[in-house]
Amino acid sequence: MTGEPKRTVLIVGASIAGPALAYWLHRSGFAVTVVEKAGAPRAGGYPIDVRGTAIEVVRRMGILPRLRAAHVDMRLCTFLDAGGSEVTSLAPHAVAGSVEGQDLEVRRGDLTASLHGLVRDDVEFLFGNSVATLDQTRQGVDVTFRDGRQRTFDLVVGADGMHSQTRRSLFGPEEQFHRYLGYGIAIFTMPNTLGLSHEFLVWNTPGRAAGLYAVGDSPELHAFLHFHQPEPPTRALRDPVVQRELIASVYAGAGWEVPGIIAVMRDAEDLFFDTAGQIRMPHWSSGRVALVGDAAYAPSFLTGQGSSLALVGAYMLAHALATHDDHTAAFAACERALRPFVAANQALVDNGGATLFPVTAQALEQRNAALRALAALPAAPVRPAHSVLVLPEMP
Ligand SMILES: Cc1cc2nc3c(=O)[nH]c(=O)nc-3n(C[C@H](O)[C@H](O)[C@H](O)COP(=O)(O)OP(=O)(O)OC[C@H]3O[C@@H](n4cnc5c(N)ncnc54)[C@H](O)[C@@H]3O)c2cc1C
Repeated sequence: MTGEPKRTVLIVGASIAGPALAYWLHRSGFAVTVVEKAGAPRAGGYPIDVRGTAIEVVRRMGILPRLRAAHVDMRLCTFLDAGGSEVTSLAPHAVAGSVEGQDLEVRRGDLTASLHGLVRDDVEFLFGNSVATLDQTRQGVDVTFRDGRQRTFDLVVGADGMHSQTRRSLFGPEEQFHRYLGYGIAIFTMPNTLGLSHEFLVWNTPGRAAGLYAVGDSPELHAFLHFHQPEPPTRALRDPVVQRELIASVYAGAGWEVPGIIAVMRDAEDLFFDTAGQIRMPHWSSGRVALVGDAAYAPSFLTGQGSSLALVGAYMLAHALATHDDHTAAFAACERALRPFVAANQALVDNGGATLFPVTAQALEQRNAALRALAALPAAPVRPAHSVLVLPEMP
């Protein structure tokens, strides 16, 4: 034993990328602190996918059996037309390009809880707090927390999501890195009065989609609204009242169960509103501070790959730091190894990821024809982007 002091790392954000990075860095001998603005790990939540290379990450973390047990086992995805009549029904993996029996869909909260449970005894968590200022010196990063405490870390990693404050303080406003994909999105829960079970219903007219996710036999549905907006709805992003008005006006006159969904949305306490977008940056680090997951390279929910990128990105960053004493070399090595994987997954929106939500009547007809053809195929084509990266062994 040399008795060398451990390298210290502050991770900002305790969702998916943050705890995954904390796990691997702790295993590699780092002293890890995680700061999270929420008061506790968030439970519940909409289903997210873990696929391809990310399955290997969670296997190496030892949580694959637990996640398999939490798999939401969505059995049917039914597309509906304007009046609510069935266009076609498919196995969900056929739509997503996943590998049936291998890839996973779990509640976001189940994944977060599994990751947090792995590290909570080994890593310092500061819940209900965040970073007020970061000052880099030659020796480290001086951090002032929101509660006024000050500490110095060797490295800081922002795992604070799409609208990362760490990114903002390091690289400036989000606008320069945000690629708007032309849609607004709203998610909230509502009572399962339709008696849906293990299925996903998607209603469409050109430029408008309304979905209902039934996770198992839950008495609660995840309602999701996805609608075309040529320009980012800037005012609505800032003001919850404007959000609700905008959504109600977009869905005015819609058929099927949409009026009831909109009525619930108006009073929903858990309404989540955002735009579909990606984060694209020329570099993911500056000095002693780096970004991981959505903060650095959000692919958008249209790809279904955000959680997988967060898990794989955390693994690759930890591997680079574990195999390089110098952080500059480590950050560069991580970028070199990870960028092709990120690029392939972000490109899914250009290669058809957004065609699930057509904007014109003609495009909707084409999509419906493609979905019917897919339903007739014996097996769905697997998306190579999900598994294009082979993980190196952690030392
Ligand atoms: C509606 C929706 C549907 C989605 N569907 C899918 C899907 O089907 N499949 C899929 O793979 N992905 C999906 N995603 C994307 C997925 O949720 C993200 O890609 C993934 O969660 C990224 O993980 P992350 O840890 O990088 O960031 P996040 O999960 O965004 O976590 C960021 C964390 O940082 C915390 N934080 C933020 N700011 C601060 C601060 N200043 N200080 C301290 N803490 C802070 C937040 O509270 C949060 O805990 C979806 C996303 C949305 C919004």
